[in-house]
Amino acid sequence: MKHFSRALITAFIMAGLISKATAQQQTMKPEETEFYSPVPPVVTPGTTVGQAPSDAIILFDGKNLDEWVNVKDSMPASWILADSVMTVNKATGDIQTKKSFSSYQLHIEYRIPANITGNGQARGNSGIFLASLPWGAGGYELQVLDNYNNKTYTNGQVGSMYKQGAPLANACRPPGEWQSYDVIWTAPEFNSNGGLKSLARVTVLHNGVLVQNNTTLLGDTPYIGYPSYHKHGPAPIKLQAHGDKSEPISYRNIWVRPL
Ligand code: MG
Repeated sequence: MKHFSRALITAFIMAGLISKATAQQQTMKPEETEFYSPVPPVVTPGTTVGQAPSDAIILFDGKNLDEWVNVKDSMPASWILADSVMTVNKATGDIQTKKSFSSYQLHIEYRIPANITGNGQARGNSGIFLASLPWGAGGYELQVLDNYNNKTYTNGQVGSMYKQGAPLANACRPPGEWQSYDVIWTAPEFNSNGGLKSLARVTVLHNGVLVQNNTTLLGDTPYIGYPSYHKHGPAPIKLQAHGDKSEPISYRNIWVRPL
């Protein structure tokens, strides 16, 4: 197996040739399956879990909304900044990042207000569109909702990829407490003719609990009807200002690492 690439070894295993490789192991040295490049870059982790590592792009650290714009008019984001957190402004609508991203690791924290009212989808509804698109459903929505003691359709509750992937668990904290999402987003790829080359995939931890395990998406996440794909490149990350009447939710500590 010396000098064989990982891809070739994988092909051997898939082709059922592993038994020959196993026989070969009797004559091999350990060094023959050890490699030294590429060398992973050094990344200094945050001092606590959830804190941005050294190579992260900080999207919101409580100081300003400089990385965000209103989706509606592309003007500086109009969400309310107070006490180092930003709160949804339902009057001015969704906001999105100025920067665009393909695949990435994202950390984001949100808080449902302690005095939240409403039920079903009208209780602390927001959402994180992992790629904001100017057509169809507007992108791929990771749902934000208060489901601590609130039932709704399972593929629309918190932790779902809206109407596509029900979460593996309900890991809600009570309203009033900060909650986190850690997301690994693998953007879909398209051929030059617009055809789909590879599906989008997503892994999500909600408050440290796995809720999406490399889930494949069949397209965007519409409220009505079936998902579909439309060719796109790097896209902003969008936060939803939902039109329900419940009290607006807040966000803090948002950072991303392009992959
Ligand atoms: Mg939503």
